[in-house]
Amino acid sequence: MEDISIKAYAKINLTLDITGRREDGYHLLRSIMQQISVYDVVELKKADDISLKVVSSNASGLSHEVVPEDARNIAWKAAELILKEAGISGGVEIILHKNIPAAAGLAGGSTDAAAVLRGISRLYGLGYDSGKLCELGVKLGADVPFCILGGTALAEGIGDKLTVLPSPEKAYILLAKLPVAVSTRQVYEAYDALSVTEREDLSGRLTELLMDHGADIKAVSACLMNVLAEVTQDQYPVIGQMAGKMKELGAEGALMSGSGPSVFGLFADEIMVNKACDAMKKSYPDAFCTVCGFIGGEEND
Ligand code: ATP
Repeated sequence: MEDISIKAYAKINLTLDITGRREDGYHLLRSIMQQISVYDVVELKKADDISLKVVSSNASGLSHEVVPEDARNIAWKAAELILKEAGISGGVEIILHKNIPAAAGLAGGSTDAAAVLRGISRLYGLGYDSGKLCELGVKLGADVPFCILGGTALAEGIGDKLTVLPSPEKAYILLAKLPVAVSTRQVYEAYDALSVTEREDLSGRLTELLMDHGADIKAVSACLMNVLAEVTQDQYPVIGQMAGKMKELGAEGALMSGSGPSVFGLFADEIMVNKACDAMKKSYPDAFCTVCGFIGGEEND
């Protein structure tokens, strides 16, 4: 095999709670992560050296100007890591067709890195299983192992301890992101300065629901929570307003994903979600807005 093309799906956090901090400063999470059908296409071709090109789809609000085209790109780092691990002297030409908004709380970089690991394993016939790929992936970033497994999972530890879950029942997702780039590190620092009160373990509740008999859109919506939403919304009140607007437009639930600024709304009805998408585009002309769905683990090939 000389070249390969892989879909690298984005994720949203249906729940995101912080349960503590490790001695090295990393935050301990409890989060239900869910892949969605917004994806980058990662093209890989055998070559003598590593090279990387970013091709941005031209939709507004994507913030792709922050994506580096050199060794700082996490996809490049993933290639370096796996080639070194396998003792391969050759390289790979990487073309990232970016559709996932960057610095958005959608794991855009992590999913590209996961696709590069999976792709190079196939391209060079390494035969690494997902356990081995996750072991490499966590060295690149805490979200990379989830992006390797895909589908739906409860993430604990720094986000790397994963329990694979059945996906929720079908829903239509409206995803919106303003053209502001949020720094994940700054959001966590601001969170640390807050005194956070007791709250219900909605990650645990949703895990039980999904494991027992599945969760429909109403059940999932009742469990949505993100402790970082307050912090990011303090900085950008418009994010909270966008979630409110989605609910007005018929979403069963709406929430910021990760450290933001992306916001998603869950809809039961296709006509309603498309109307809501048009209305969001009118209200927030600079924003990236799209309709997508959940991706199950078996679709993350
Ligand atoms: P996460 O949810 O994992 O914290 P995110 O979705 O908020 O990530 P990314 O899209 O991964 O954010 O971008 C975070 C930063 O990573 C960007 O500011 C960008 O400079 C850098 N970066 C490096 N490689 C990539 C890549 N392949 N795609 C996007 N961003 C990248």
